[in-house]
Amino acid sequence: MLQKTHSIAGFISAEIFLTYQDISFFSWDAAGALLLGCLAGTLADVDKPGSTMAKVLFPLSALLRLLKVKHRTVTHSLLFLLLLIMMAMPLPALYFWVFILAYGSHPLIDLLNERGVELFWPIPFKIRLLPKFIAIDTGSTSETVFRWLLLAVSLVIPLAHLFPQILQMPL
Ligand SMILES: [Zn+2]
Repeated sequence: MLQKTHSIAGFISAEIFLTYQDISFFSWDAAGALLLGCLAGTLADVDKPGSTMAKVLFPLSALLRLLKVKHRTVTHSLLFLLLLIMMAMPLPALYFWVFILAYGSHPLIDLLNERGVELFWPIPFKIRLLPKFIAIDTGSTSETVFRWLLLAVSLVIPLAHLFPQILQMPL
């Protein structure tokens, strides 16, 4: 998936947590959490040469290339997520959860990709949620449609949070 798709998924992860915690979307905490969600959602692609994250975190991406780490392996695995959980422990609860949820959203939506993800790395087994003919190829029209859907969800969540009565309206 493209970086913008992952950013929206990370943003939604932050929105879900803010809603779950009943934190106002009009607060500095929420602004920080939403920004963090956007960034953390794209982080796993530091393993993809040429990606924005690989450029921004150049020393890390160079190290991954030196170690011959392939795309959608280590940084997209549950083991790595566990390591991040341990490393992020000192963060305040809001940022800890948003970071972990947004980071986790990345391999989760990459599972819809036709090439799959080595979720259980170091076991070299690629997992894909959709059969090949409907799987979402990176940069394809189906990814654009998927991104628009995510964008719609990202608008509905704060609206539903602000106006809970719209959820209770009879259709
Ligand atoms: Zn990825």
